[in-house]
Order: sequence, then C-alpha cells, then structure tokens
Amino acid sequence: MNLTEMRALLAAEDIRLTRSLGQNFLHDGNQLRRIVALAGIQSGDKVLEIGPGLGPLTEHLLATGAQVLAIEKDARLVPLLRRRIGGTNALTIVEADALRWLENPNDEEGKPRDWTDWHVVSNLPYSVGSPILVELAHSLRPPRTVTVTLQSEVVDRIRAKAGTAEFGVLTLLLARVFTIGSSFRIPATCFFPAPDVGSACVRLERRAEPLVSGLAAATYIRIVKSAFSQRRKQLRKVLRFNWPEAALADAWNTLALGPEVRPEVVTPEHFALLAERLSRLSAP
Ligand code: SAM
Repeated sequence: MNLTEMRALLAAEDIRLTRSLGQNFLHDGNQLRRIVALAGIQSGDKVLEIGPGLGPLTEHLLATGAQVLAIEKDARLVPLLRRRIGGTNALTIVEADALRWLENPNDEEGKPRDWTDWHVVSNLPYSVGSPILVELAHSLRPPRTVTVTLQSEVVDRIRAKAGTAEFGVLTLLLARVFTIGSSFRIPATCFFPAPDVGSACVRLERRAEPLVSGLAAATYIRIVKSAFSQRRKQLRKVLRFNWPEAALADAWNTLALGPEVRPEVVTPEHFALLAERLSRLSAP
C-alpha cells in the first residue's frame, strides 16, 4: 500500500487520523520489507501485530505465509481492515485496546496467554509503546522475538548501557527477559503524516532463561522502580526505604558493590543478583 492508496482510502472513508492514537502510517515499501526481514518471519510463524492501522505491515507479514493476530483500537479502522485484507484464515483481527488486552493474563477461554512460540512485529503507537513492551516482558510466557518501530529516543533507552544517561527503568525491565538485537532508523518522510519525532525499529530476542524469575523477578522489578525514582542518589540509600538495613548490608557484601554505587551504573546482571539476594533475605 503506497502513499497515494493510503490517502485515497482515508479520503473515501472520510477518516481523519488521530494524533492521540499515534496514527502515523508507514507507507514506504522498503522500510516495511526491512522490518519483516529484521523480524525474520518465516512461513507458518505466529505473529502478533499491535496497531495494524490500514494494514501496510500486515500485508507484508501475510505475504511471508505467517499467521497474524492483529489488535487495533480504532473502531473506524477495523471494518476497513477486514474489508481490505480480512478474507483469509491467516489473519485474525481483534478490536481492542492492546494494552488493556495484554494486561489480562488470560485469553478469551480463561487460559493463561502463552506467547512462547510467538513473534511480535508492530509499528507501535508511540504513546503506549513502552508500557506495551513492559507488559510483554512481564507476561508469564513472553514472546520469542519482538520487532517494533518506536520513537528513536525510546529505542536508545532500550539499547542503553549502564553508565549512560539513557540507561534506566525501561532498559532494565526489558533486559530481564530479552537481549537486544539490531536496530535501524526510519526517516520521518516514510510515514503519513510524518511524525515530529525520530523513529527506529529494534529487534528483541527472548533469553534462554530470564535473568531472574519467580519471586526474585518481582523483587527485581520493585528494586529497579525504586532505584530510578531517585537515579542520582546512592542505590543503598534509596533501597533503605523498602528493605531492612541488615539485608542490604549482606547483599552489598556478597555482591561486592561499592557503598556509594548509584543505580545508573549497576548492570542488569547485578540488579538480578541483588534481587536474588534480597528476595531470599527479606520480604519488604
Ligand atoms: N501498522 C500501521 C502502519 O505501519 O502503518 C499503523 C501504525 S500506527 C504508528 C499505530 C496504530 O496503532 C494505529 O492504527 C492506531 O490506531 C493503533 N493504536 C493506537 N493505540 C492503540 C492501542 N492501545 N491498542 C491497539 N491499537 C492501537
């Protein structure tokens, strides 16, 4: 679907795009092919697409022979999408707010959602891009890969190394479950309308094992969130609000952390060890 077709379709249906829904549609065929190539989608793969919009990416995904489940919030676009490309068993379209939908851990039959064999490929609505990624990382059985287009500033945060300004909560919540693969920038002119922020596509791959799981995973999430509520403060001082001093002293000794270490220089692996230790020693 090129820009001319996109404009014509929107005009014929009298649809005005909504900024709050992040409706910047990708019309550049080369970029769409690059996204599908980065995702490495093969025939028969199961793909979750969040925010299909008019379906330009969906069409490329279907062309690989994948089975696509597409979740779209905008009720004006869903019937349009069904009419355009819905005539195949390979595509299931659900009208829903993807964030609310993912927050429900159970599927429509009441069974826990299992994304183990799934790939997520999406041009995410930028306003809810980070919470959607975090929700996927927190799910009981996270997807195999996640290849998403986001605001480039968010991709920088996902890719950030400890000790940099971009390193923070998002980096750490995703790093528990995923390793970060390649990424590439997408020029604003490839979207309609052109967004006023930079865009980039990034691939995440599920780790063979998460850095921490079970009870310690909940502790990891709690530590990360508390730590970065005051990123310039010493980590141990921040954690004192929620964990007993004796447990912190033990963890600091065991992990040989500097007494004045600040959250922004602690690697995901060290946050994981800290979470393991603190979850064993104390329940806040
Ligand atoms: N995939 C299309 C493309 O590449 O052109 C559209 C991408 S556009 C950046 C984001 C899409 O997500 C829009 O279609 C928008 O209506 C939809 N959307 C916004 N918020 C959503 C939400 N919470 N759940 C599901 N879809 C949402």
